[in-house]
Amino acid sequence: MADNTPITETRRHQMFPHLDEHDIVRLRRFGEVRTFADGTPIMKAGKVAQGLAFVLKGKIDVRQGGAVSQRQSIVQHGPGGFLGELAQLSGRPALVDATADGEVEAIIVPPRRLRDVLVQEAELGERIMRALILRRVGLLEAGQTGPILIGPFGSADMLRLENFLRRNGHPHRALDSATDGCAQTLLKQFTIQPEHLPIVLCPGGQILRNPSEGELARCIGLLRSIDPDTVYDTVIIGSGPSGLAAAVYAASEGLSTLVLDCRSFGGQAGASARIENYLGFPTGISGLALVARAYNQAQKFGAEVAIPEEAQLLGADATGEARFQLKLGNGESARARSVVLASGARYRRLDIANLSDFEGSCVHYWASAVETRLCAGQEVALTGAGNSAGQAVVFLAGKVKKLWMVVRGRRLEDTMSQYLIDRIKGLPNVEVLTRTEICGFEGSEGNLRRVRWKHRDTAEETVRDVGHVFSFIGAEPNTDWLKGCGIALDDKGFVVTGAGNSHFLATSRDGVFAVGDVRCGSVKRVAAAVGEGSTVVSAIHAYLAKQRAAEDQKAAAE
Ligand SMILES: Cc1cc2nc3c(=O)[nH]c(=O)nc-3n(C[C@H](O)[C@H](O)[C@H](O)COP(=O)(O)OP(=O)(O)OC[C@H]3O[C@@H](n4cnc5c(N)ncnc54)[C@H](O)[C@@H]3O)c2cc1C
Repeated sequence: MADNTPITETRRHQMFPHLDEHDIVRLRRFGEVRTFADGTPIMKAGKVAQGLAFVLKGKIDVRQGGAVSQRQSIVQHGPGGFLGELAQLSGRPALVDATADGEVEAIIVPPRRLRDVLVQEAELGERIMRALILRRVGLLEAGQTGPILIGPFGSADMLRLENFLRRNGHPHRALDSATDGCAQTLLKQFTIQPEHLPIVLCPGGQILRNPSEGELARCIGLLRSIDPDTVYDTVIIGSGPSGLAAAVYAASEGLSTLVLDCRSFGGQAGASARIENYLGFPTGISGLALVARAYNQAQKFGAEVAIPEEAQLLGADATGEARFQLKLGNGESARARSVVLASGARYRRLDIANLSDFEGSCVHYWASAVETRLCAGQEVALTGAGNSAGQAVVFLAGKVKKLWMVVRGRRLEDTMSQYLIDRIKGLPNVEVLTRTEICGFEGSEGNLRRVRWKHRDTAEETVRDVGHVFSFIGAEPNTDWLKGCGIALDDKGFVVTGAGNSHFLATSRDGVFAVGDVRCGSVKRVAAAVGEGSTVVSAIHAYLAKQRAAEDQKAAAE
């Protein structure tokens, strides 16, 4: 049975560790001591804080909520305690309010120096990093901080915004405009018309009407502008397992690193309900938990991550210092000495005429808590026969009344790992229909009412009252944006690497590398993607050294 005890109780001692005198002595060189008078706000939700505050004297009161609920006390930090959570690692706006209770003296460690603490003071850094992560988990669990989403539950735009925040590990609160009294009062107060839903109340006080993910990310400080003058040693396109592995190794080895992702960190792996074959996790780990660790690890080493930020064109930079210029979806650009293509793959779509009418609301490409809330206790269909489909079946079966697994092939054994097949066989509410394909959707106004499927040999059709379909029918490479950029692709659109005598991860364009699922011939697995992302960094070092030597030679000749 699931244990619902909040993390603030189960791991309180790790969440709020007590630092002793020796720890404080070691911390002093990373920050400066400041004094705050009684009642002074030290941190304000929605505003960027100065950094972590290690308390020397006095007490700091930390609170959450307030906009649509009573402000709740989270903790009071006394001497030996410290104020802060993951937002301060990357200098993003705070999620909580903190006030001095009596006169407070504290060492303030700004984000850049905090990363130095984590790297240079390994044991102390480990305790601090663990506390920062657990505090974020606590805020996510409590759901009292961050932006407030108000809209009809189950609508495509509400799901889109909820999923964006959830996949990016950002605490938030969602209120159903149809049933929640508090939401209805707020909508009246701000005279919001139904066509403007969902709205988002941001911690800084702004109200956004059905924003894009980019507008929301900018408003809550998740996404900042990219400095057009900075030349990064490497820009990595994609923050799936391969891109994050490249970022961890590149940043930890001193390369200035920027990671761009147009959706969320974690890529396809973030969609996996439970990864059981990744080395070192014998009990399995949810894809999101695994990639969130990698995301935090990359930031700990100083990699900059910009989400959502879409690379649209890989061009040349004429200024000499940089060799590449990436044009981004929002009109910005990023300059780089080398580029890593880690843009992976995206789900394939069913070939059904009115598919787009139901995508985002009733046809899902992920199976997470957000989707299961919509179909709990109902009959659902899932199509696909790979491991991603198998994991989703196992995850969903415990939540829905009945699950029809629609499979085109003759047997799951041809495409799925045996451990998943064995598990599916033991699920009483799952029926596997082989040689079958989904052939039609019936419904209106985004609400799916019935699904039709057809036996591929007998052409016999079945219609069931099914309101939600989960689709896991494989993936295609995310390389459309590379066409015309001088990068060789194979006939299926994957990036070709290792031609001639070049490094096996080098593309046809010098200084541009490809890793993970986007690469032609790669093994489409998390471990393979992580391996390639880690390996590419030595090739980048070699490439940059060669460039520097050529520049030195040219300068000497002039
Ligand atoms: C549901 C599911 C379950 C899975 N389970 C397992 C498992 O149990 N074990 C296992 O080993 N493997 C599993 N896999 C496969 C595994 O997740 C992939 O092999 C792995 O994620 C590939 O990593 P990647 O970094 O190469 O690419 P991806 O994970 O595809 O990441 C690519 C990233 O690039 C971003 N991107 C794309 N284009 C652009 C652009 N133009 N600009 C900016 N960003 C861009 C995308 O938004 C994405 O975040 C599963 C896959 C799925 C879908």
